[in-house]
Amino acid sequence: MNIAALAELLGEINGPVIIIGNAGEVNSGHFDNLTALADLRDAHPGGAWLHVDGAFGLFAGTSPRFAHLSLGIERADSVASDAHKWLNVPYDSGFAFVRDAAILQEAFLASGEYRGGPVCLDRKSALISGALPVVVR
Ligand SMILES: *Cc1c(COP(=O)(O)O)cnc(C)c1O
Repeated sequence: MNIAALAELLGEINGPVIIIGNAGEVNSGHFDNLTALADLRDAHPGGAWLHVDGAFGLFAGTSPRFAHLSLGIERADSVASDAHKWLNVPYDSGFAFVRDAAILQEAFLASGEYRGGPVCLDRKSALISGALPVVVR
């Protein structure tokens, strides 16, 4: 990702933004400079959320040889990854870490006429819908 170009683009936006960085792009293996993206998030006056797609590369952090690639990932607001990529578990084993679970719950509990009611996050509803509940630790 061209950080300078992103910084320039963000300078043209007054409102809140979502910045999405890659930790291991699946075709090239590319890692974005996550520290620089976190700095841009912190500097954005309209508020910003930094999400990192770590589906393929989150586990680089476990290797002394490759850990430097994911520096800054600890500053993300959310990180998603797939256990089925490197942990040899069945397909569809995905998960996300979200810094502020209350914001996530608020978003998923929001309702509107067009949505047909709130999305419930309790275990019973999750079992019915097939989604896993949010685990708050
Ligand atoms: C695998 C992958 C995803 C999501 O893939 P699913 O298997 O559908 O969960 C997203 N981003 C990257 C970089 C990936 O490697």
